[in-house]
Amino acid sequence: MRLITTAIAVALVAAPALASAAPPVVLVQAGHLSPGEPGYLAQTGASGNPFGSESEFNRRVRDDIVKRLKAAGVDARPLAARVEPLGVAGATFLSVHHDSPGGAAMVGHAVTGGNENYYHGQGFGTASPTPYSDSAPHRTPATTVSPAVQRTSAGTARRVSSALGGIFTRANGARAAFRGVIPPNSNRRMNHFYGYYRTTAQSRVLVEVGAAPDDNAFLRRTSLIGKTLSGALVADLRARGLL
Ligand SMILES: [Zn+2]
Repeated sequence: MRLITTAIAVALVAAPALASAAPPVVLVQAGHLSPGEPGYLAQTGASGNPFGSESEFNRRVRDDIVKRLKAAGVDARPLAARVEPLGVAGATFLSVHHDSPGGAAMVGHAVTGGNENYYHGQGFGTASPTPYSDSAPHRTPATTVSPAVQRTSAGTARRVSSALGGIFTRANGARAAFRGVIPPNSNRRMNHFYGYYRTTAQSRVLVEVGAAPDDNAFLRRTSLIGKTLSGALVADLRARGLL
């Protein structure tokens, strides 16, 4: 009788905590995948991979990551280039890409201060923190990147980079450079990527998985890449106490 009473008491204490623990939301974006984001519609991505377009590689990796995150108990949501709904909340936002010829594998993250990037027209020319006279209109309101978001994003970027570095090997077909986490403000296109300003996710990261065509043998391994990146995101959520 005492055992039964104890079991009921434990169940009563444990049940509310279990019921109220909503799974963390992770937003996984396939870079450049249609529909596009106003102001960046001309940025259709790098060429030269085995799948015909960068967006198709990004979609395959995104879908693999989402499937594995769901299996791990994460509320994973796939995004296209146009972030919907505008200002969507989450624990983590990851944008998946590969670099262009001569590029590298690397990871960028949101940096506080400074705005999203503006370009000429729908995405031409040099990234600028202020609009050009001919910049196409952006959707508003943009979200902001606080110092706390930068810190959390840097932590996620380190975990993603460490995991990617572990599989970015010659044996797996990688040939381009591996730059790891790029320094803040070293690359406006990656440190002030528009996607960081279309979500309120606590952590916001962009990964260049490799560069086509040098890394094509590696880029073909979308399942290994998805498994590795999803594993890094799960480890990051656990380290942050969210999973
Ligand atoms: Zn890209």
